[in-house]
Amino acid sequence: MSRPAIARIDLSALRHNYRLARSRHGGRALAVIKANAYGHGAVTCARALASEADAFAVAIVEEALELRDAGIRQPILVLEGAFGPDDLAHATMHDLWMVAHNAEQLALIEAHRSIRPLTVWLKMDSGMHRAGIAPADYAAAHARLRALPQVGPIVLMTHFARADEPNEAATADQIATFDRATANLPGERSLCNSGGILCWPAGYRDWARPGILLYGADPMPSDDHGLKPVMTLESAIMNIRDLAPGEALGYGGRFVSDTPTRVGLVAMGYADGYPRVAPTGTPVAVDGQLTRVIGRVSMDMMTVDLTDLPAARIGSRVELWGNTVPINTVAHAAGTIAYELLCNIKRVRRDYIG
Ligand SMILES: *Cc1c(COP(=O)(O)O)cnc(C)c1O
Repeated sequence: MSRPAIARIDLSALRHNYRLARSRHGGRALAVIKANAYGHGAVTCARALASEADAFAVAIVEEALELRDAGIRQPILVLEGAFGPDDLAHATMHDLWMVAHNAEQLALIEAHRSIRPLTVWLKMDSGMHRAGIAPADYAAAHARLRALPQVGPIVLMTHFARADEPNEAATADQIATFDRATANLPGERSLCNSGGILCWPAGYRDWARPGILLYGADPMPSDDHGLKPVMTLESAIMNIRDLAPGEALGYGGRFVSDTPTRVGLVAMGYADGYPRVAPTGTPVAVDGQLTRVIGRVSMDMMTVDLTDLPAARIGSRVELWGNTVPINTVAHAAGTIAYELLCNIKRVRRDYIG
């Protein structure tokens, strides 16, 4: 038998979440499967969505080529756009849509010679101040692209900085800025990431761009939006030890109890992507019963409290996150977000169902 550390990926939950995102937003939806589908396996996720996804999005050309090599035929948008002429050559050869977010990328497109017109998603900086064409320069950039024979459809896009904060004026300001700067421009629009889909149904219904929603990690977990977790990270108890009062557990001797403690050792560590910074008290489930992480997470192993779980034994199933332990709770305890936990998953076997 092999090590029991497994990421179970429920592909029917992925399809459920995609449908939910698309119907909530209206229009069409790019399934964002960058970063190996947020740790879920890009090729398998793309195949699972292939019959219904309108298009896919990845961050870089290399990720798009992996999907094309695997036979994925849908349109694929490259969210970071071209880093050089080679990326545009690949885009033409493999029929990729390219974001253009600055003057350098516009110049690359201008210099690009293509037998078929390139679809460009022209990104505006409407207030995130990270990338994108300034609103004042946007119409000129659009006109410049439209004049090029090698450019086909141009989609108008922007990205929200605080879409998951429903009471923040920042998103309304971004929408207003985008509106003003695109008022007279033709073309489809795309504004909403997952937070936007949930909080800012602003009427831009051409293209949604759901990422984290697809994987069932709700960016606003205080409301139930009906998402289903896609990944269950699980392993098993590989050793059990009774800790006497005063004995220190693990690296740094960080956990010391004044009462007898039954300690379960779990085959999962930060080399698998479980966050090392998850403190004592972070929830885990053993055979479906909630308990807590105790002591420091090590590279390949971690320790959990079995004191109140007398039936637990070597081989007992441990859920690190999934349906019983919300990934957002683990992320919060570790001072990060579900996105980072999911992207960090490695070494563990992925088992697909559905
Ligand atoms: C990653 C990304 C998304 C998806 O964001 P989520 O918050 O995961 O939904 C959407 N649009 C752009 C431009 C992105 O880079």
